[in-house]
Amino acid sequence: MLMETLNTGHWADVNAEKILREKGDKPLYTCASGITPSGTVHIGNFREIISTELVVRALRDRGKKVRFIYSWDDYDVFRKVPKNMPNPELLTQYLRQPITLVPDTLGRAENYARGNEKDLEALLPLVGVEPEFLYQAERYSQGYYAEGIRHALVHKEEIRKTLDAYRTEPLEADWWPVSVFCEKCHRDNTAIEGWDGDWGLSYSCPDCGNRETLDLRKASGAKLPWRIDWPMRWVKEGVDFEPAGKDHHSEGGSFDTARLTVEVFGGQAPVTFQYDFISIKGRGGKISSSSGEVIGLDDVLEVYTPELTRFLFAGTRPNAEFAISFDLDVLKLYEDYDKCERIYYGVQDANEKEKAKQSRIYELSQRSRPEAEMPYQVTIRHLSTLLQTYDGDIDRTLAALEGVKPAQLKRLRERAECAWRWVTQFAPEDFKFQLKAEGSPANALSVSESAAVRGLLKVIETELEHIDEKALNDRVYAVAAEAGLDTKEFFKVMYQALVGKDQGPRLASFLKIIGKPKLLAVLKNYQG
Ligand SMILES: [Zn+2]
Repeated sequence: MLMETLNTGHWADVNAEKILREKGDKPLYTCASGITPSGTVHIGNFREIISTELVVRALRDRGKKVRFIYSWDDYDVFRKVPKNMPNPELLTQYLRQPITLVPDTLGRAENYARGNEKDLEALLPLVGVEPEFLYQAERYSQGYYAEGIRHALVHKEEIRKTLDAYRTEPLEADWWPVSVFCEKCHRDNTAIEGWDGDWGLSYSCPDCGNRETLDLRKASGAKLPWRIDWPMRWVKEGVDFEPAGKDHHSEGGSFDTARLTVEVFGGQAPVTFQYDFISIKGRGGKISSSSGEVIGLDDVLEVYTPELTRFLFAGTRPNAEFAISFDLDVLKLYEDYDKCERIYYGVQDANEKEKAKQSRIYELSQRSRPEAEMPYQVTIRHLSTLLQTYDGDIDRTLAALEGVKPAQLKRLRERAECAWRWVTQFAPEDFKFQLKAEGSPANALSVSESAAVRGLLKVIETELEHIDEKALNDRVYAVAAEAGLDTKEFFKVMYQALVGKDQGPRLASFLKIIGKPKLLAVLKNYQG
């Protein structure tokens, strides 16, 4: 299957081909992604990671060796106290220091950056994403980039010219292509005083009065600003591919300047594409790290299984904006995924082009390889009805599904857990119900209503377990007609009796799910 589907025109394959074309035949390809862990890593940031991972996958499917690196830009400065963090007064004292020196007031890790890093590092393997993490604070402070910093100082004027070409105001005359965290107070408000043309860089700190000359090769607080740091690292790591968001890809943005500055370091820009924003639908709030309400990968995994989560991204072109829904669209997205799955396994027909396309999306949606046998399919709608009928009991729900094979249980359980969280936390009100307790008091009914309910009780007692859903549905209509009751009215009466609402799941199917013993117990007081 795999080899046949490599020229499907899927965007991950198109980019893999582009990398091979532009970078030539190499023993190893490096694909990069990264972020500053200055806040919770939200689902919009995840788009970059998964976009990279899908291209990594496409390269590996072509038999290529790939290094997938994820840079934690944790030597960045702590600019602003995030709104969702406890003890903001304490955090304020750490402004202008590297984020790795800021305490984690959420108590997750030894420092704030590490806390944000750990959160994401724990989640990524759940969706089959396993990059090699690089920690920039560690690398910078160990002198790993000393050569790169020195190189930037040597080529200061060329870099200035490149940056100025995109600026409305030219850089100041005393501008330096490097910044320094003070060795004493750790803040970056320092001023560079001079450079000895080799490894010695002098600076002064207005905050604590510290003045010194540091050796770039040793532990030091020197760091390149983002627009120079990025291309320096492309060359240092040999990056062949790195996507970036709209902000970096805007006209004169950091990708434009890095593409030119990288030549100073003797390299070339990686193959790239711009990925678009993600919005959130059906749960309110926006995804921005600066607001308290941040939707992370963990929130998405509450409602979408790992495969569904990957499907959302694999099935959408990266440059298209889309919304991750928590409302009724969830039902449709699961149905789309199931259709894609049926096409992959040849259970549903599709023309050749569509089959190739859907099959590739399906492969890329899997954490590793597709299962040998097609997973068990059941809609979220049906699962929600079962789960609500059984008070969220997942074991009972799975036991009620016919023909499930042991190998299919794990995925099915994940889907049921998502369905239960969705229906209890996000489903519209008219979707939710709770079956009444056994022996609940009967509602006051008219003579014809009462006759219809008794008629249906008789059907439940004698026939329910022997007839199918369609036949049962016919009986519902028949008892209503016999009692001289409008069918619509009868449905209302039954839903009121069962769940205390005017509507509920499709009645015949619902009666079958509840089953004879439970129905007779709940409706006991309508007898006689
Ligand atoms: Zn200082």
